[in-house]
Amino acid sequence: MREGVMEKSGHHIVGDSWFAILDFIFPPLCLSCSVPLLNGRKSVCNPCWDSIERVSALHPLFLETREKLLTSEQVNGLVSEFVFEREGAFQHIAHALKYGGYESLGVELGRKLAEVFLASGGGGDVLVPIPLHKRKFRERGYNQAERIAHGMSQATLIPLRTDLLRRTRFTQSQTTLTLEERKKNVEAAFEVVPGKERVVKGKTIVLIDDVITTGATIVSCASTLRDAGALTIIASSPALAR
Ligand SMILES: [Zn+2]
Repeated sequence: MREGVMEKSGHHIVGDSWFAILDFIFPPLCLSCSVPLLNGRKSVCNPCWDSIERVSALHPLFLETREKLLTSEQVNGLVSEFVFEREGAFQHIAHALKYGGYESLGVELGRKLAEVFLASGGGGDVLVPIPLHKRKFRERGYNQAERIAHGMSQATLIPLRTDLLRRTRFTQSQTTLTLEERKKNVEAAFEVVPGKERVVKGKTIVLIDDVITTGATIVSCASTLRDAGALTIIASSPALAR
């Protein structure tokens, strides 16, 4: 993984051997099932990745989510990979990415999502992650959607832009809200950064979030970008939740 290489490139050669010895004595554990990870894997074991249900183009959850997005008339397509199940492996992964400081997991998810995106014939002019409010960004130190977009950008070569869209107000956590409450919660919560409308105009924009549930956040961002002249909006996330 490129990130790992960059993180370690600054270490003295003795430092690298020391890390290898530490990994040998205390191998990193899978974030989901806690088995020791071998072969240089840093976060999640292959059986855990394989255990996560996938959303094909004919999966009911995929069809239902796409329908919700398309009927908003703000979003033109959806690309996703996994099903987010409570207590399932993907929830462990999403939690580690969001709250555990496992930034590189976002890049790994983005690279996996890029394979599905390219296989579906997906393309676009720019990748735009759903922005975090700056208060949340300060608390967490990174935006998980931006890390996913970073991995996608590496694999698709579509440029990542974090300077086009921003949050205008702090929104409460959506996990306990109904669909209608979520819509209200994120209404007018975003804006195109003044002066960046010319970058957005006429473009196909791939909007990226970590998990799409009701789609209210994606739709709100899509409508903001459309108001600024964006032509096509494709929603993309590693997982969909029921
Ligand atoms: Zn595992």
